[in-house]
Amino acid sequence: MKPWEANFRNVTPYVPGEQPKQTGVIKLNTNENPYGPSPAVKKALEDFDTERLRLYPDPASQVLVDALAKRYGLGTDQVFVGVGSDDVLAMSFLTFFNSGKPILFPDISYSFYSVWAELYRIPYERPALDETFRIRKEDYYKENGGVIFPNPNAPTSLALGLAEVEDIVAHNQKSVVIVDEAYIDFGGESALGLLSRYENLLVVQTFSKSRSMAGLRIGYAMGAPALIRALNDVKYSFNSYTMNQTSLVLGTAALEDEAYFRETVGKIRATRERAKERLSDLGFVCPEPSANFIFAGRPGTDAKALFDALREKNIYVRHFDGPRIGDYLRITIGTDEQMERLFEFLENYL
Ligand SMILES: *Cc1c(COP(=O)(O)O)cnc(C)c1O
Repeated sequence: MKPWEANFRNVTPYVPGEQPKQTGVIKLNTNENPYGPSPAVKKALEDFDTERLRLYPDPASQVLVDALAKRYGLGTDQVFVGVGSDDVLAMSFLTFFNSGKPILFPDISYSFYSVWAELYRIPYERPALDETFRIRKEDYYKENGGVIFPNPNAPTSLALGLAEVEDIVAHNQKSVVIVDEAYIDFGGESALGLLSRYENLLVVQTFSKSRSMAGLRIGYAMGAPALIRALNDVKYSFNSYTMNQTSLVLGTAALEDEAYFRETVGKIRATRERAKERLSDLGFVCPEPSANFIFAGRPGTDAKALFDALREKNIYVRHFDGPRIGDYLRITIGTDEQMERLFEFLENYL
């Protein structure tokens, strides 16, 4: 080892789902939206004047912040935008979790949380979900340096009721509670309505799933002005221009097409409900899904072997190693045709 290598920041990075190079894959492994973004986004891209790329983008991302504030009925000082919600969440860890006390998040949850905690050297504890994969709200009542959980949870797809979310926020008046609502448009109740009563709540959402713009990288946080100001101070101390000009323009265009958003989210929810029935007919069990994916396991069927067999046939789903979750597959909801191909395979395989 070279002497300077002892001073490297050693981190074990997050491992994203596979992005296959070949065509013809039925890609149900990274919770992307099977429908394209709104036609309004296509139009805005065609109309985009590349001359604008000569200049730095607006560091305040004002057009997008304003459009989001309008969409959610908030003040423009209550919205922060970033390069996907991963950027927004990483920035939030850096901004809010500095007490030295352990932050809390569920043992089965978005695996990026522990990566950021390690990166920033934030101590953490992971209360276990109960045997039905539910978050036990009482586990979050103890002294802590912050709380974060996804709702609906990933990779379980299970939503926590708004009353329980509120209980967690209310019991943590001394720390910031972040609700990661990456999947909230597909089910469950948003915590946004609680913002008027809790200054310690931050709600984080993304354009990647319900708005079908994972490739553009747009995420946002909503909360009390003091939280948003603190996030911006950290952002401006790091990189003033996180949001590129095209993201600002195309993201704003997407927000203007509420009808398309509702239509595609509605289709995915309908496909999910049919998929849930089909999987159940095939002997699978799953926590009640509220996101654009189903977390399904089949007693007596080896999940890893099934994952490999599916992959062999170019049907990609996600399998996570580990106690309890190793018996399940996380299956993203695709189009009806894609799901049909999955079910045909499963009928033969089983
Ligand atoms: C997909 C996802 C994100 C991040 O998505 P971005 O593409 O970075 O916006 C954040 N949290 C959870 C739970 C997710 O599943």
